[in-house]
Amino acid sequence: MSRARVILLNAALGPLDYRVPHGMEVAPGSIVVAPLGPRQLVGVVWEEDRFPDVETVGDNRLRPLAGLVDAPSLPAPLRRLIEWTADYYMAPLGAVLRMALSSSSALEGSQSVVEYRATGLVPDRLTPQRRQALDAIGDAQGMVRELAEVAGVSVAVIRGLAKAGALEPVTVSLDTRMPVPDPDHAAPDLNDVQRAAAEELCAAVEASAFHPFLLDGVTGSGKTEVYFEAMAAAIRRGQQVLVLLPEIALTEPFLKRFAARFGVMPVAWHSGLRQSERRRAWRAAANGEARVVVGARSALFLPYPRLGLIVVDEAHEASFKQEDGVHYHARDVAVMRAMMEECPVILASATPAIETRHQVEIGRYTEIKLPARFGGAEMPEIVGIDLLTDPPERGRWITPSLIAAMDETLAKGEQALLFLNRRGYAPLTLCRHCGYRFQCPNCTAWMVEHRLTRRLACHHCGHVMPTPRECPDCHEEDALVACGPGVERIADEVALLFPQARVAIVTSDTLWSPDRVADFVAQVEGGAIDIIIGTQLVTKGYHFPNLTLVGVIDADLGLEGGDLRASERCFQQIVQVSGRAGRGEKPGRVFIQTRMKEAPVIKALLAGDAERFYATETANRRHANAPPFGRFAAIIISSEDATQALETARMIGKHAPDFEGLRVYGPAPAPLAQLRGRHRHRLLVHASRGVDVQGAIRTWLGPLSWKSGTRVAVDIDPYSF
Ligand code: ADP
Ligand code: ZN
Repeated sequence: MSRARVILLNAALGPLDYRVPHGMEVAPGSIVVAPLGPRQLVGVVWEEDRFPDVETVGDNRLRPLAGLVDAPSLPAPLRRLIEWTADYYMAPLGAVLRMALSSSSALEGSQSVVEYRATGLVPDRLTPQRRQALDAIGDAQGMVRELAEVAGVSVAVIRGLAKAGALEPVTVSLDTRMPVPDPDHAAPDLNDVQRAAAEELCAAVEASAFHPFLLDGVTGSGKTEVYFEAMAAAIRRGQQVLVLLPEIALTEPFLKRFAARFGVMPVAWHSGLRQSERRRAWRAAANGEARVVVGARSALFLPYPRLGLIVVDEAHEASFKQEDGVHYHARDVAVMRAMMEECPVILASATPAIETRHQVEIGRYTEIKLPARFGGAEMPEIVGIDLLTDPPERGRWITPSLIAAMDETLAKGEQALLFLNRRGYAPLTLCRHCGYRFQCPNCTAWMVEHRLTRRLACHHCGHVMPTPRECPDCHEEDALVACGPGVERIADEVALLFPQARVAIVTSDTLWSPDRVADFVAQVEGGAIDIIIGTQLVTKGYHFPNLTLVGVIDADLGLEGGDLRASERCFQQIVQVSGRAGRGEKPGRVFIQTRMKEAPVIKALLAGDAERFYATETANRRHANAPPFGRFAAIIISSEDATQALETARMIGKHAPDFEGLRVYGPAPAPLAQLRGRHRHRLLVHASRGVDVQGAIRTWLGPLSWKSGTRVAVDIDPYSF
């Protein structure tokens, strides 16, 4: 009799054995449907010997597999990656596997699906629900269930609208045949430094072996053009390429740039895809038709059969670290996948993480440097403005020196960018009469005023309320005052100072869809915008040749919070945003407003001396035995019940291991002590190099138990420490 060991797409369970019915052929990697209690779940057949200690039952008690899914099976290197990820990040295999299969709906083998879109016809009977649905759907398109979800109505409402003629069906093909990118479509003439870099990368692609690279080039040096050559080499060899981007907002401009270079669009993979697009992309990646996949971190777990190269662009970005579900760092998993696939991986960044630099220093990664901007563009001039000696007017945030520079810039018909990493109007709203402060009911966070939408919003859980006229506590009218600046408030100030200027606010509130991003880029390129005011969203990727002035409203903001990563984060943000200035023929200037001219990171920024920053920061990390020298793991204990959370955290803390090279701090309130209604405590594990942190945590937590409703999440290599 034949049996199969299967991992189910179910977070909690280990592998289970099943009987393979007559006539069904399965092998490791096969995607199957298997019974579990009364349910039928999707799972993947695994090598038996990977889990030798699974408790087995006699042949006669095995339940049979219910079916074999008609989809390509998961290749061995991906199975090894899934095992590694589950093991390293201490997550259930089934949870990691779920990322590889995206959702089981991706597996349905149909050739087409029916989607619906609005016809513009208003039905005779327009119930409030129908109106709500039509408003929400707008010009979107999707399957019945997707539209129902988008509109927040039942499936019946959508069906009713279709019947009434307000929605029409469209058949969408799920054909996975894709045009092949042409490596020679529009290859640029590389300069000597670029060419040498490209040749080294192409040789690594030809060698078809694991080889990690740090492509460390200043902003505007042509990193993208260089790694495009390596991608071309992989495409010529008939291999697949994966490009990871840190932000959905960057995908659209990247796809266009790719199409200009290679003649066809690559396949996009991110959370904004419709179901039909998701299904098609999954299948095309799995059967090898998708030659180039560009996507968010979850694209790492797609079942590429012929991966020849991985590129992680803006590899320093914090958003590569997933902070819920399986806590993993996509940059590190990318390197691991390249190792499993035996192919090169390129981490591209102008501001690599200290950890990545360290890998170069110890000889694990090969560094390729692009020290100068392309085409003779100069690096921008950096000017420090001391807010203590050259302050803005009372109640204002832009200093006279920066105002003067903006004046000059606009007078020349050039563009300026003001950077402040704070969405909304003001980070804190309080009552001038009684001192009441608006706090989120679910989180340890202030409600942030958004004047454009006349609401107060929590940036952590999404809780919103209309901005009230009176104080909810003392009922004084018109007594609410805004404290501190957000980008909207800077926009108000700019409107007073430069009433003629055309201003764009760029945050995740305004650029939430690919179309919005495309509009924004077109407006700036077409000269319809004079001043951009934005959060970290504007720091990356964009290339605006007429943008010559960058003003950093508050450089010290990034240093707040006081964690050991703060200096690195501050450095990266400011170098990146500075990198937007003077990328074309006109020279750029960067004005940095600060109260901390003497802080080492600010000094290094003002001197434009990246090496000094890396040296100081590496020394600090070494001294603190922090990453990359020592390691951290965080254990977050959370519950809706405050007492439960605290007691569980104390109980776990009491059992903390204590041995040479490992220390446990806490429990202490987590950085967000309350989040989405859950009370959170944190234990921070600090280990010296060489200590088996995961092993220690397994031994520690394994025998402990806690009440249901209390969650204990382990975060290996947390971003903040
Ligand atoms: P980075 O990714 O390092 O910031 P990019 O690859 O975006 O740099 O290059 C900056 C700008 O210079 C882009 O507009 C790019 O098209 C252009 N560029 C870079 N190298 C070349 C080249 N060899 N030929 C033509 N244009 C180039
Ligand atoms: Zn909240």
